[in-house]
Amino acid sequence: MHCRHHLPSIVLLVVASSYAHPSLSAAKSDTSFPFTSVTKTSSKMADEPKANTDKGSHQPNHNKNIREIIRLESRGYDIDSPNKVPKRPDYLSWDDYFLAVAYLSAQRSKDPHPSKKCDGACVVDAMGRIVGIGYDGFPRGCSDDCLPWASPAASDAEDMEQELAWLHTREPYLCNAEINAILNKCSTDVVGGRMFVPNFPSNECAKFIIQSGITEIIYVKDDDVDSDSSRASRILFEVAGVKMTKRKPSIASLKISFGVGSPNSETNESIENAKLNEDEMEKYLGLLQREAAIDPFQFKVTKRSDYLSWDEYFMGVAFLSAQRSKDPNTQVGACIVDSNKCIIGIGYNGFPRGCSDAVLPWARNAEHNLHKKYPYVVHAEVNAVLNKCSASVRGATIYVALFPCNECSKVIIQSGIREVVYLHDIYHDTDACRASRIMFKMAGVKLRQYHPEHQEIVIDFES
Ligand SMILES: [Zn+2]
Repeated sequence: MHCRHHLPSIVLLVVASSYAHPSLSAAKSDTSFPFTSVTKTSSKMADEPKANTDKGSHQPNHNKNIREIIRLESRGYDIDSPNKVPKRPDYLSWDDYFLAVAYLSAQRSKDPHPSKKCDGACVVDAMGRIVGIGYDGFPRGCSDDCLPWASPAASDAEDMEQELAWLHTREPYLCNAEINAILNKCSTDVVGGRMFVPNFPSNECAKFIIQSGITEIIYVKDDDVDSDSSRASRILFEVAGVKMTKRKPSIASLKISFGVGSPNSETNESIENAKLNEDEMEKYLGLLQREAAIDPFQFKVTKRSDYLSWDEYFMGVAFLSAQRSKDPNTQVGACIVDSNKCIIGIGYNGFPRGCSDAVLPWARNAEHNLHKKYPYVVHAEVNAVLNKCSASVRGATIYVALFPCNECSKVIIQSGIREVVYLHDIYHDTDACRASRIMFKMAGVKLRQYHPEHQEIVIDFES
């Protein structure tokens, strides 16, 4: 996960600039600011596989009608004009995006054995929405600092002479990423969904995947292809009719750059799980000693120290989602999280569902207002609320790259979101942001500027 020695042959720098609020677009449209920047490394340019949720425009007759309607209604906008601003060509494909979310989730894991397997999982429903995310970890409420992290494979630690007792390894306690993603789902079920994982699932996970009604598993590699566990998984999937798709991401790695970073950020209000107090620690260590004969002073393997914080992870998901945007100038992502730290809504800036990216204008400047993107585009925050996969977003927190405009603020407040975490505030003094702050403060919505611990997060698909 953290090896950075796969050096790119081509470095593609995607830098977003100029996020203009619709109400300000006429006055202010050329402020350049790289607030969403993701670097993709790849050996070849990505061919965008047409995912079923990407609306294509392959009906000539339909298009002819649309063209006429647009021309008449927009006072002459020609969708075939050679001067048209094209959509961004290098946006992340759906498959790469979902895999990236799975790899990013793996970086939340406290498992100190990242070299062996990096496990995260991302479940996507039939509508193409992310409805469950998971990573390897101990069950909810079971302390990362008390339970053993040792791996059963003796080769993991050089100083491990004798084989560890089962109860002294992580084996009996660890919940796999696939299982956590299913159990953490924010929708009523995941029937008909697809699961994206770095590694082919074990047979224990296969049982969960099949029972949950997932119909396709998309994985990157299967290092244990010959193991009994892999064989059993393949048998189960085959018999149950779950499609197995091995997919190599079209890019080698992805770099999420926050642009700013403070290595020891003390200003962040931590939303990490509360640390155990001494009494609790003593109680749990006593329990482990009685039940499993684990000597608390003999712990050899402790949890990973460089896992992503919740804030970093959710902001990372927002930044990744921004890379789905087709807007050639501005890519913004938003991620809504409930009080259980489940992601319940994701959005990026784009045209409404069914309104083709290839047809509507992407221009920021044009003679006519109707020939610019602003009347048609939906902001990331609003999309995240409308794409929610839970019944409501009441009480939730929204993570956004940029402080929300007043139009989004209204929707954020009305939908019951109680906290806004933002990275940049470059439009602080604009009327739109002033209006946002007025409404947020009156409505009692908490505003928190996020100061990233690291400048960037690297997602290495070849780890
Ligand atoms: Zn907005």
